[in-house]
Amino acid sequence: MPGSAADIRRQIPKMDKVLVWPLLAPLAASATHHELRDAVREVLDQLRCQLVSGSTPDLSPHHIVHLVADQLRRAQAPSLRRVINGSGIVIHTNLGRSPLALAAETAFKETAWGYSNLEFDLERGERGERYVHVERLLCALTGAEAALVVNNNAAAVLLALSGLANGREVIVSRGELVEIGGSFRIPDVMRQSGATLVEVGTTNRTHPRDYRNAITEQTALLLKVHTSNFAVVGFTAEVQTAEMVQIGRQAGLPTMVDAGSGCLIDLTRFGIPGEATVQEHLKAGADLVTFSGDKLLGGPQAGLIVGSGAIIGRLKRHQLLRALRIDKLTLAALEATLRLYRDERQALASIPTLRMLTCSLEELDTRMRRMLRRLRRQLPPGISLKPASGTSSPGGGSFPLLQLPTRLIEVTVPGLSANRLEEALLATTPPVVGRIQHDRFLLDLRTLADDDLPFVTTALAQVLEQQP
Ligand SMILES: *Cc1c(COP(=O)(O)O)cnc(C)c1O
Repeated sequence: MPGSAADIRRQIPKMDKVLVWPLLAPLAASATHHELRDAVREVLDQLRCQLVSGSTPDLSPHHIVHLVADQLRRAQAPSLRRVINGSGIVIHTNLGRSPLALAAETAFKETAWGYSNLEFDLERGERGERYVHVERLLCALTGAEAALVVNNNAAAVLLALSGLANGREVIVSRGELVEIGGSFRIPDVMRQSGATLVEVGTTNRTHPRDYRNAITEQTALLLKVHTSNFAVVGFTAEVQTAEMVQIGRQAGLPTMVDAGSGCLIDLTRFGIPGEATVQEHLKAGADLVTFSGDKLLGGPQAGLIVGSGAIIGRLKRHQLLRALRIDKLTLAALEATLRLYRDERQALASIPTLRMLTCSLEELDTRMRRMLRRLRRQLPPGISLKPASGTSSPGGGSFPLLQLPTRLIEVTVPGLSANRLEEALLATTPPVVGRIQHDRFLLDLRTLADDDLPFVTTALAQVLEQQP
């Protein structure tokens, strides 16, 4: 029965009393008085709520101090933390998209620790440009005349539209007016850039004549947008880059492709078909191609722009560039990632995103068996670990329909539903993210690295420990 307000006040110890409990002294050593006060207040508030709702929490000083210690740990932990991804979604936007290759991490650290030639031309001993560090590399890899990098692909699209079409019209197919998660919508970006959107065709079919008929004196650009996170199937027609370029050239207009994920390697032979590479868009004549650094490229968050020297020259002089410019740490990680692409085999072997996407079923099978063996050896028998098969998703707005066959471990803890197990694993250090399918909690081996195994083991052990 919920007690009266006065009853409850009597049962809960006073904050000032708790703060001078000798039991609390060890915690006071590792926290400021302020932090300790906040933690005690939070715990007493929670206990009060529990009493009000009619439950009977343990109010012994020992338990209260234990709760305060937990609360302090949570309050003192950094907010942005490492997470183990067992979800099977490779480019998981909420989990930070692409983990970086070792080479990128090294470059990042070196740049972070000291000064660098970020905007300093070492040969001439004078002021230089931050963009030069990746421009030659990007041109060599894609066949473009020029390149420019900014904060992310949304910024790349905004800069390009603003630079090429401010106050004029841009023609886009209705089937390509995409919204990417996190409120990036083509019509909205278009408005921001000062360009006017001219929609052509229908949701499922757009023809060359639709573009031709929409061209006016006001037209500045033809835009093709990669439909990253959905697919139009059935009775469809889409105008390919080469044909758009031809229509544009006849009218003296440039064509831009927002390639979204921006793949540099054709992944068809790994069972991942259907994505035109950046090189192919350029070969087809696109004047400008923009894409993300942290999707299929497997690098840091960045927006890459490649294409015509004259157009990119204009964008380099655009006012907006200063506000969208890439940070030096990102630039270091991006250059190191791009350098890996000079040798395709090296890129596939050492860029985590590509490695996870192209991992063979045999390899996943081996990893699953190895992981099961070690988990079973290290965890108490209270837990059930079963091999399972299923599919993983590339994620990150790439290949929306593609499901990659994978291997999974089904985890069951007696007395815990799949949902409760999921919650418990999100509260461990580091948190482990899995997925639930048909009421089963699953860990996908595609996104778990061997290095993650000790963390998965500790997390599961922590969950078991908390079980009565
Ligand atoms: C992901 C995506 C964007 C946004 O890229 P960010 O790097 O996340 O800013 C823009 N256009 C398309 C087609 C995309 O797939």
